[in-house]
Amino acid sequence: MGRDLGPDCRLCRREGEKLFLKGTRCYTHKCAISRREYAPGQHGAKKAKLSNFGIQLREKQKVKRIYGVLEKQFRNYFIKAASTKGITGAILLQFLERRLDSVVFNLGFAKSRKDARQVVSHNHVSVNGRRVNIASYLVKPNDVVEIKTDVKTLNAIKVNIETTKERKVPTWLQADGANCTAKVIRLPLREDIGYPVNEQLIVELYSR
Ligand code: SF4
Repeated sequence: MGRDLGPDCRLCRREGEKLFLKGTRCYTHKCAISRREYAPGQHGAKKAKLSNFGIQLREKQKVKRIYGVLEKQFRNYFIKAASTKGITGAILLQFLERRLDSVVFNLGFAKSRKDARQVVSHNHVSVNGRRVNIASYLVKPNDVVEIKTDVKTLNAIKVNIETTKERKVPTWLQADGANCTAKVIRLPLREDIGYPVNEQLIVELYSR
């Protein structure tokens, strides 16, 4: 699947807020948004007033960038969410959180979502005892996610768990960091998603 290969910090600067795309670096003074809090490019420093459409578009771009999902797949999540019973915006975020790369990130097995995607695609993760290397795989309640890899990678993942321990594992996941495993207790709820996201704007954008 394709993905955005441009500089991560540029994406944060475009959205005007920290999207935490680079793991631990995002919490240091090296964070680009702390140093240059304006959009990238020649006219980035000029703040244009956004229309309603512009605001909705920026919110959608922000969420896509947080989760590292491209337009086609993001729209597919929206279509699926719209045809599922419940609040469309919350279900859309639920799909994004249930992605295996997102789960690996939330468990602290990787420092960033980008690294988490690599952990999955390099075949280091199993779900219910079977290897899964598809980042978009959606976990469900009672699934057991486990790191199954060589000692060197396992040690690197244990270092990641230690480094990211300040980041709380969401309560819909029951993590066993010592054994690099976790169980999905339930589906994620809206309040489990810590990002300042206004998903209703995305629903309005796609409903135009
Ligand atoms: Fe965004 Fe992290 Fe770069 Fe800061 S360091 S601009 S939060 S990716």
